[in-house]
Amino acid sequence: MVTNFFIQCNCCKLVYRLRWQIGYEKATVQIRCPKCNSRLHGYLSTNGSSAINIHGAKEISCDNADYVQEVSTEFLTHKIKAEAEFTDFITPFIRSNIYDHPNIMEYLHFIEEHPNEVEVINDLLNEKSSKYLKEKLRDNNNVYINICKRAIKKYRLNSQVDLLMASHQYLMTMLLRSGIDASVTSIMNDINDLRIKFFEQVKEFSKLLDNKGYYSLLNSKFSKLTNIYNSNYLSFVSTLITNDISKIDLDEFGLSSVDYEDLLELYRKCYEFIGEFIIYIVGLNNIYERGGYNVFKKGTADIEEKVNKEDKYNRIQSFVKKDERFSNGFCETLNKIIRNADAHFDVQYDVFNQVITFTNKGKNNTDEEKLYLLEFTNETIKIFGLCVVLWEIAYQLQKTRLILDLRQDWNYGK
Ligand SMILES: [Zn+2]
Repeated sequence: MVTNFFIQCNCCKLVYRLRWQIGYEKATVQIRCPKCNSRLHGYLSTNGSSAINIHGAKEISCDNADYVQEVSTEFLTHKIKAEAEFTDFITPFIRSNIYDHPNIMEYLHFIEEHPNEVEVINDLLNEKSSKYLKEKLRDNNNVYINICKRAIKKYRLNSQVDLLMASHQYLMTMLLRSGIDASVTSIMNDINDLRIKFFEQVKEFSKLLDNKGYYSLLNSKFSKLTNIYNSNYLSFVSTLITNDISKIDLDEFGLSSVDYEDLLELYRKCYEFIGEFIIYIVGLNNIYERGGYNVFKKGTADIEEKVNKEDKYNRIQSFVKKDERFSNGFCETLNKIIRNADAHFDVQYDVFNQVITFTNKGKNNTDEEKLYLLEFTNETIKIFGLCVVLWEIAYQLQKTRLILDLRQDWNYGK
């Protein structure tokens, strides 16, 4: 079922018909006014008293609009069109042929009830708070903890390692339900193999990271990053539900829920996060490819000194090589043109076609990359997926440090 709302741009007075595919109880609306370029953004909801809340525009009663914008949380929508050109009477729901996505809907409800759960748990992961974290992980009224209750039950939760493992299990279970594609299982296996083959090196590397505070820093920054991902999540649902973007007519269909500047912000933060913690990837690659975490292609050096000498952005280019085992996904996804264009404010947006142009002006040449809003949303979700992979890597190494090196009391499986 679709329902129509009429809104008027506060600045240029253009009138829009919002053709809302009712589905999930709330939909984000993100429009760039084609006439005055104002950003109109807010929500539609099924809650009668506050059904419409759009910054930059007000609801009006009328039946004649200048433009039509379809709105949907779950489905792709037509791009903005002049009212006279809008002739499609099929609803986004029927057009999409997509029906059930229980995990994604569950994640939506999860972050509505627990928007900052990663941060909350991270704050509780210390000796002083262990009593409260244990209570939280044993809370039968929390339906999301119940999802992985069988796994969590195995932990006695009397030690920091147990609490770390159980809470990681809980949070990772939920994050993977959000629809990101993070190759967590293969990373887990790769690190297990590495631990067997190069035990001393993995142990020493995990110790170095601990002594220099890398685990706590990564965990705390990952919590903040996840907060931003969660605050954008409603806008990402239709992209996550679309299985295969290559099959979509990208000239015609796009998103009503996303603004490219919000994407740029999350993309930038993810890029920075990966650059800041690239030492994890470099160390594992050095061990896997050359037998020691300080052994680089061009000889031996102190890993921390060498990596930190470069700034956060150059590190990725300088140290992550495509053909090395733990670089998987990182080289393909991290796009330097997008990152540089964003840093120099060389990003243009075409409202009607939903095309973003990233320009990178070098001394002698100019690189340009054009992406549809839908494609860039997909890239942004992918780069967040890499941050989740880094979080998993840190967890595996931290576990190595606590259990195998420090021999902390470990109740699981005893
Ligand atoms: Zn306007």
